Amino acid sequence: MTRTLVDGAYVVTMDAGRTEHETGHVLVHGDRIAAVGAGAAPQEVRDTVERVVDARGCLLTPGLVNTHHHLYQWATRGLAVDETLFGWLTRLYPVWAGIDEQAVNVAARGALAWLARSGCTTSSDHHYVFPRSGGDLFAAEVEAARSVGLRFHPCRGSMDLGRSRGGLPPDDVVEDRDAVLIETEAAIDRWHDPSFGSMLRVAVAPCSPFTVTTQLMRESAELARSRSVLLHTHLAETLDEDRFCRERFGRSPLEYVEDVGWLGTDVWFAHGIHFDDAAVKQIGATGTGVAHCPTSNARLGAGIARSRDLRDAGARVGLGVDGAASNEAAGMLDDVRHALLFARATGGPQALAVRDALEMGTVGGAAVLNRSDEIGSLETGKLADLALWRLDTLPHADVADPVAALVLGAPPPLELLMVGGRPVVEQDEVVTADSVSLAGEVTAVHRELMSKAGEIS
Ligand SMILES: [Zn+2]
Repeated sequence: MTRTLVDGAYVVTMDAGRTEHETGHVLVHGDRIAAVGAGAAPQEVRDTVERVVDARGCLLTPGLVNTHHHLYQWATRGLAVDETLFGWLTRLYPVWAGIDEQAVNVAARGALAWLARSGCTTSSDHHYVFPRSGGDLFAAEVEAARSVGLRFHPCRGSMDLGRSRGGLPPDDVVEDRDAVLIETEAAIDRWHDPSFGSMLRVAVAPCSPFTVTTQLMRESAELARSRSVLLHTHLAETLDEDRFCRERFGRSPLEYVEDVGWLGTDVWFAHGIHFDDAAVKQIGATGTGVAHCPTSNARLGAGIARSRDLRDAGARVGLGVDGAASNEAAGMLDDVRHALLFARATGGPQALAVRDALEMGTVGGAAVLNRSDEIGSLETGKLADLALWRLDTLPHADVADPVAALVLGAPPPLELLMVGGRPVVEQDEVVTADSVSLAGEVTAVHRELMSKAGEIS
């Protein structure tokens, strides 16, 4: 097994004591962290390794964890740019109706390569559009994650409440409920790996209250629990959704999901913006997770989650970029920064500390995915998922606090990104994908989807 030493960086471990080393080292052995320490590594350690990374002038952090995304949207960016969520969805559904294996694979490789470039080592994906003639879209995104090399949590999404039955999506992009459950279980059988160090875990993820029947919400929860996998959905993203739930179910979004068995340590919600005090308390008391997606929420003008209140209440809070159709940048470090800025813009100067924002992007995300014992911090025995940021160039040189340089400053060059000890980014270049040819492939897929939807000829 390969041994790599990252030596001389400012090390932010994000361990329980939030230990930081002004100058420190991390030893990687195979896919694990073999040692973390202060100062330069001793010569006897240096003598045992294949590679020494000179990390002077750099900041070493755990790899960032993305808890909400729709990878296929990488090929449908820049549309309906001034719309509300419901207006944006209504415009995009017909474009998404054209996706197939090729489109999903290309878009997912593009999105994941860019996530890697932004310091992300683990990403979830919530895929809920399955056109009848699209082929095996789940396999297409799994293959994309394998080729780029990120740790992956694909969520088998679903929609079964079309427009003719009072839902938002057109009938031709929704699925039959029984088919959803069969396909979801098949995805778990085929891909889910619960072992320590797993590169792939599947979650069950009906899309949202306004696209999914109550019966499918209930049966999805039963399926997930019978197979010991996690549950994920969108919740409390907009006031339109709040109105929809009150009109259709006579309940708030949180009351509705509680009715269908969707609270607990095996559940995480994307967004969680429009929660009142009682809802925040209940999310915390039940240990439910929230994927806070500040950039997407601001882009759609949906509002901003009460991240500080949710954390104080005991909720597990991580960060997500959300789909690239509502966050054209879709970089994880942007969301760490925006989580901080928007928390303070709405909650005042003490609403969130710089290190709390980085915590949500690392250990917070690991907790949301129930992987606190494996990822999210730099500790001996954990997986070697790490990001090494260069801070000695013009934008960051001499910023007094390196964590502030990362969170508040411009996105720094990414010197190295490792996933399970394997380099995915070196000196700002993704080494597992050809970014130039990938950009061309994404362009071709985008044009094909727009043409299929009749938006271009
Ligand atoms: Zn989403």
